[in-house]
Amino acid sequence: MNSETAPIVVIGTGLAGYNLVKEVRKLAPQQPVLMITTDDGRNYSKPMLSTGFGKNKSADELAMASAADMAEQLNIVIRTNTRVTGIDAAAHKVFIGEEPVAYSKLVLAWGAEAVSPRVEGDAGELIFSINDLQDYARFRDAAAGRKKVLIMGAGLIGAEYANDMASGGFDIDVVAPCEHLLPSLLPAEAAQAVQTGLEGLGVRFHLGPLVTRIVRDGDGVLATLSNGETIAADIVVSAIGLRPRLDLAVKAGLQVGHGVQVNRLLQTSEADIYALGDCAEIEGRVLLYVLPLMASARALAKTLCGTATEVSFGVMPVTVKTPVVPVVVSPPAAGAAGSWQAEVDGVDVQAEFRNENGELLGYALTGARVMNKVALNKELPAVMP
Ligand SMILES: Cc1cc2nc3c(=O)[nH]c(=O)nc-3n(C[C@H](O)[C@H](O)[C@H](O)COP(=O)(O)OP(=O)(O)OC[C@H]3O[C@@H](n4cnc5c(N)ncnc54)[C@H](O)[C@@H]3O)c2cc1C
Repeated sequence: MNSETAPIVVIGTGLAGYNLVKEVRKLAPQQPVLMITTDDGRNYSKPMLSTGFGKNKSADELAMASAADMAEQLNIVIRTNTRVTGIDAAAHKVFIGEEPVAYSKLVLAWGAEAVSPRVEGDAGELIFSINDLQDYARFRDAAAGRKKVLIMGAGLIGAEYANDMASGGFDIDVVAPCEHLLPSLLPAEAAQAVQTGLEGLGVRFHLGPLVTRIVRDGDGVLATLSNGETIAADIVVSAIGLRPRLDLAVKAGLQVGHGVQVNRLLQTSEADIYALGDCAEIEGRVLLYVLPLMASARALAKTLCGTATEVSFGVMPVTVKTPVVPVVVSPPAAGAAGSWQAEVDGVDVQAEFRNENGELLGYALTGARVMNKVALNKELPAVMP
């Protein structure tokens, strides 16, 4: 098969991959498409992983469709439990081990991987990262009958799991080397409101120190922090960050930064190779959220089907799923000049980030103030017009 008659090959069946193929199907019902994924290819909404304990949902209950159902619905071929191990851009081929697979266009939708914690000790099998449905299934099995959970990390995922697992009846300690939770998203006043809400659910925060060592202790673990404190737990969740997958792109000679670098057509530095979703860095921005990947899927489908279309992003606020104190935030662009001003009334906080001309560049709303997002969104500049 030569590269012109070969299918569009999409690596990854996460939200980026599946949404792209759904958009392609609207425009080109007969276009051959092959999707390849290391996981089982079930279609699920990843944001639901951090609300599954409060709702008592198993991995099977979170899955919306099997790979076979998706293949039939979309009229495509999906190869599951299959890892792409190499890309030859000049030959228009990907490799699955020794097996070459030709592509006409290649789309990288291979996501981001959980950063592994560097801790000493012998309790590695009791430390879990939850970055896909299969991780979630493994973790739920391991957590069954357990009570005390240590969460490493107080970013979006750590905060959401703290709320979710506390609602699901677990006893939670959160350890993170930051002054306040959600440090890359929220100013201190808004973060404090979320912390107060979570403490009301019984969550204990240890902000500042790192976890340095985790050892087996009976059926559970004993964690030692950099300030000498120790915490006993039954099981550990590591939520210390996600990093776009880059290894294969680097090996293939693609330009990378924090993610696989693409222009606004979502084209990488190699002809006929595109990237979207958590693995992509679009004009310097790595946006690990659903709204950007949906906009990217719509634009890229048009490009793949013959109408070159640049992606643009409007206002894209992020909802942090901490229902005990709801949060909506639209962080200012990295390095934006300006300052935060916050109005605080208990756990109801309205923080606005404005520049010296008084223009709104970002906001963070908690509690009852989240209802003001509609008005503030109208004032905000687009993320990438
Ligand atoms: C717990 C949690 C909660 C979240 N909540 C929210 C939220 O509330 N709102 C929001 O906007 N965002 C949220 N996010 C982020 C959002 O879910 C992600 O931005 C989005 O799901 C990323 O989709 P993706 O398809 O790019 O990557 P992924 O879903 O990671 O998919 C990557 C795919 O690539 C495959 N793959 C990887 N390497 C290879 C290879 N070498 N060969 C073949 N296949 C490969 C994988 O098997 C997988 O199918 C959350 C994330 C997490 C972890």
